[in-house]
Amino acid sequence: MTGLVYVDLDAVRLVVDGVAHRLRLVRMPAAGEQLTTLCRVVVHASFDLTPPRVVPEPCWACAEMYASDRAARAAQRRLHVVPAEPPRIPLQPRGLRRPPQPKEITG
Ligand SMILES: [Zn+2]
Repeated sequence: MTGLVYVDLDAVRLVVDGVAHRLRLVRMPAAGEQLTTLCRVVVHASFDLTPPRVVPEPCWACAEMYASDRAARAAQRRLHVVPAEPPRIPLQPRGLRRPPQPKEITG
């Protein structure tokens, strides 16, 4: 039996000098691979499975770019939404049509 290790690439942060940056990842990077954060910091990847002693500060530039990217992707998805079909009005069979109603005479 095997188990699948699922890694949410959106949750991966790259910590550089105590600041947690965001990345655009399509797969887990390999150790030593060159990575560029959303705010354009370029470093080589290394991994540490021990919990950090100090909680890294979030990079606000990356956070802002990430939010902007998400908004752009959401807008893109909205553009591809197929509009709902207009409601269909059922046709009445010819034999069941209502006879013309007499007009009301006023005055
Ligand atoms: Zn950053």
